[in-house]
Amino acid sequence: MNFTVISKGDDKSNELMNRLYDRLFAHGLTSDQEKPDIVISVGGDGTLLYAFQRYRHRLKTTAFVGVHTGHLGFYADWVPGEIEKLVHAIATMRIQVVEYPLLEVVIQFDRENKKQSFLALNEATVKTKEGTFVMDVEINGEHFERFRGDGLCISTPSGSTAYNKALGGAIIHPSLASIQIAEMASINNRVFRTIGSPLILPSHHYCDLKPVTGDEFLITIDYLSFEQKNVRSIRCQVAKEKIRFARYKPFPFWDRVKASFIGD
Ligand code: NAP
Ligand code: MN
Repeated sequence: MNFTVISKGDDKSNELMNRLYDRLFAHGLTSDQEKPDIVISVGGDGTLLYAFQRYRHRLKTTAFVGVHTGHLGFYADWVPGEIEKLVHAIATMRIQVVEYPLLEVVIQFDRENKKQSFLALNEATVKTKEGTFVMDVEINGEHFERFRGDGLCISTPSGSTAYNKALGGAIIHPSLASIQIAEMASINNRVFRTIGSPLILPSHHYCDLKPVTGDEFLITIDYLSFEQKNVRSIRCQVAKEKIRFARYKPFPFWDRVKASFIGD
């Protein structure tokens, strides 16, 4: 079995990364940056999001583990003081895998019938560069609403505790393969109307965002952000792929939620 470590890049994370390499080599494991069986992310949730995007072409075979060096991480189960325990577990235990659903985003462009697809572990957001964002929202090919406001956030269950939560979205357990659409400051008055509540779609449903005015958008996929021109539609649905986490100890999702947001 081979592994690789991705560090956030600060001194503490780098020191921990070096220790992980030393200790895992001492246990006879080999490292492979190109085709790792295990990717250990050391840093924060942002580091794990980066690791996910870096190895998104290997989701079938690679499992992820997170060690957090900052405050409690949502994807990072292990603290620096548990490194020996983690090393021992990786070296001696069979990997127990937990799978979490992902979001697939397919952007269809006006010209050349071009498409581009992305996978998000947390969410995708869509906003305009300037002016009010106006989008027709279709669900399973049927018009649902004309949305006016700042933008929309489409999140995965494990991403529901991130940006989605700040928008008033619900926290969804990752065993529910679903996506959630949350509004960003919708315009609601006698003339313009949106549903106003976050929507949760099951895995066999899809949602299309179709621009009404403008075709230039600011799109984010997890920590990545870019401008897209000539956008004709953006399709969001639960991806066929899943992310696999290597679990060596139980850390139930609701315990994580409590530890992050409520405390002891
Ligand atoms: P960041 O600015 O460090 O992320 C913002 C915060 O979200 C950090 O505290 C991060 O934890 C935490 N976080 C990330 N994923 C989470 C999850 N699934 N559940 C709970 N908390 C989570 O930027 P980043 O580290 O590159 O992360 C990108 C993410 O930031 C985006 O995917 C988006 O969800 C989030 N974001 C949130 C808002 C908002 O709440 N208004 C706005 C923009 C982006 P770490 O410090 O451990 O990284
Ligand atoms: Mn971060």
